[in-house]
Amino acid sequence: MSNTSPPRVIPLHDLRHSAHPMPAVEKNGAMAGGALPSDRLGRPLRDLRISVTDRCNFRCSYCMPKEVFDKDYRYLPQSALLSFEEIVQVAREFVGLGVQKIRLTGGEPLLRKNLELLIAQLAALRTPEGQPLDMTLTTNGALLARKAQALRDAGLQRVTVSLDGLDDRVFRQMNDVDFPVSEVLKGIEAAQAAGLGPIKVNMVVKRGTNDHEVLPMARHFRGSGIVLRFIEYMDVGATNGWRMDEVLPSSELIARLKTEFSMLPLQAFAPGETAQRWAYADADGRRDTQAGEIGLISSVSQAFCGDCNRARLSTEGQLYLCLFASGGFDLRSLLRGGASAQELAATIRAIWERRDDRYSVLRASLPTAPMATPGRRVEMSYIGG
Ligand code: SAM
Ligand code: SF4
Ligand code: SF4
Repeated sequence: MSNTSPPRVIPLHDLRHSAHPMPAVEKNGAMAGGALPSDRLGRPLRDLRISVTDRCNFRCSYCMPKEVFDKDYRYLPQSALLSFEEIVQVAREFVGLGVQKIRLTGGEPLLRKNLELLIAQLAALRTPEGQPLDMTLTTNGALLARKAQALRDAGLQRVTVSLDGLDDRVFRQMNDVDFPVSEVLKGIEAAQAAGLGPIKVNMVVKRGTNDHEVLPMARHFRGSGIVLRFIEYMDVGATNGWRMDEVLPSSELIARLKTEFSMLPLQAFAPGETAQRWAYADADGRRDTQAGEIGLISSVSQAFCGDCNRARLSTEGQLYLCLFASGGFDLRSLLRGGASAQELAATIRAIWERRDDRYSVLRASLPTAPMATPGRRVEMSYIGG
């Protein structure tokens, strides 16, 4: 990691309480029925990401820089958090409106006490067609070795583990709490042993910090059954001092991989998928299924808003329509004000039907880098990745 540049962490605009006005719906939820909703750009609602805590045991400089998230930072009080019962109430309505996949995130989701109890309740939900949900969780892996089996037993199907490199010195610096790589690798092993698969590993690539780890990470996970995904460092939130010159575009990343491996592009599994998939090829140029595949998440260099079907529920029950939104919709007030299930569903439908967010596409058309005009954007640790 470069220690020579001056500090450029930007003070936090606390946007946790800047809610958008709620759409008016009839109390009996008359708008709730009908076909599944699409937003203004024709995108359905399929994926719900639920942040279960705003706390974290890491201080990744690109997400929760220590200078901002220090001992004086005020996390949400327990009473502000959605209870498990409230999360399930909201999730049930989302599922009724088309959600098929739930991802638990944070902050660090494994810090939320008794998370298994929530997982068990969410795993019991069924789509209108009677299908179980695709249930997953994103974690930094620090507590995974201890919790993997309990998560699996509760009904979690798979996990995504974040790991920014195998170079212990660099990883300890990036998480900024001196946490070793070996413990995350133990967590991944425990998740494999518990049957939490297929496992994905997310690596955020910052040019000049950990880009030298791209090839070692590819070598390490090739043939392991684990899908390694490289994420472009994003200008999410407003505190990480993001700069375009620290982004390693996926085109450059794949070129680096091709210096050592033959790679073949794969078709997306489904619309709205965040990663472009690439397989390893054998000496004859055919797909080497034993070697597995990798993913590239090019949220900066190749905007993929066109079929973004993701909604995000913050720790305190605000609904966000985009990772880069400046405000959410306060579902918690609705819940705590005694709204019926129909009213809740009608409200979520009305919010989704007005959605026109497409930040990455708009950013791509900006004449200057976005941080030249610092944005008022919610932090990733608050709404999850
Ligand atoms: N604490 C968990 C973890 O790290 O996996 C879950 C929450 S974290 C906010 C979710 C994902 O967002 C992680 O994979 C993390 O690497 C990614 N992330 C955070 N800040 C990012 C940024 N500025 N650019 C790209 N990815 C980022
Ligand atoms: Fe914590 Fe995850 Fe953010 Fe790192 S990326 S600070 S582990 S929430
Ligand atoms: Fe979806 Fe917003 Fe990301 Fe576009 S920028 S892909 S709309 S979350």
